[in-house]
Amino acid sequence: MTSWRKGKSTSERGYGGRWQKARIAYLRLNPLCVLCQARGEVTLAQVVDHKTPHRGDPALFWDSSNWQALCATHHNVDKAMLEKSGRIKPTFGIDGWPTT
Ligand SMILES: [Zn+2]
Repeated sequence: MTSWRKGKSTSERGYGGRWQKARIAYLRLNPLCVLCQARGEVTLAQVVDHKTPHRGDPALFWDSSNWQALCATHHNVDKAMLEKSGRIKPTFGIDGWPTT
């Protein structure tokens, strides 16, 4: 028995070309990082992120209402924090100070 993740690239899992096209189209319509915008900053988004982690669920994966445009920093820093806390709104900025 092998895991569906093990040794497979995204394209082998079937997301590949379709996802690349979908994310490029999404970033064209939503070019700015939503979390930076919420803080009054303007940063070009680089990543299409899933607000609710899809964990391999195709319905969540392809639901564009579950997508958000993020810059690389927010994708790496805030999402890791969000997934741990299970909260949508980060309480602290990346510098460690409260954002409110
Ligand atoms: Zn950002």
